[in-house]
Amino acid sequence: MARYTGPVCRLCRREGIKLYLKGERCFSEKCAVDKRPYAPGQHGQGRKRTTEYGMQLREKQKARRYYGVLENQFERYYEEAARRRGVTGETLLQLLESRLDNVVYRLGFAASRAEARQLVRHGHIQVNGRRVDIPSFLVKEGDVVSVREKSRDNARLKELAELIPSRTIPAWLELDAENWTAKVLRRPARDEIDAPVQEQQIVEFYSR
Ligand code: SF4
Repeated sequence: MARYTGPVCRLCRREGIKLYLKGERCFSEKCAVDKRPYAPGQHGQGRKRTTEYGMQLREKQKARRYYGVLENQFERYYEEAARRRGVTGETLLQLLESRLDNVVYRLGFAASRAEARQLVRHGHIQVNGRRVDIPSFLVKEGDVVSVREKSRDNARLKELAELIPSRTIPAWLELDAENWTAKVLRRPARDEIDAPVQEQQIVEFYSR
């Protein structure tokens, strides 16, 4: 499955905000956005001209990078959101939030979405008691997401489990940390999604 494998701090610097793509490092003083708060490249510190199209493009890129989704897949999410009833921008974010790799990250089973994606790909995660190794799998209301019993002794997972009490678990997920299990209570509301994007700009980008 295709994924971006280049330097990720560059992506944050390009968007001018922290996208939290590297786990613990993002909270340390080594964060590249804190150290070099300007766009990467030769002209990164130059004067910026921003057009309406440019702003819409940046919001789309920001959302795509935040969730670790490639261009074509992101476009498919948009098309699906536009097909569904409701506010397209909000539905788009709900779809992205419902990805299994994002849910694993939100539950604190992984320090970043990239790590969550790897956990899923390596078969450590189950949905309703069955192994699911597709990071883009969309969870729905009532689904139970858990770490496979055999994987609970994994040193990295144990290390992450100790950090779970310090994390804020969104209200649409109910975590039973002792049993490495969580239930999806409902679809997330917009104010429960802390993605730093203006979804209306993305809708306008695709409506051009
Ligand atoms: Fe982004 Fe994290 Fe790198 Fe900072 S450390 S630039 S938040 S990926």
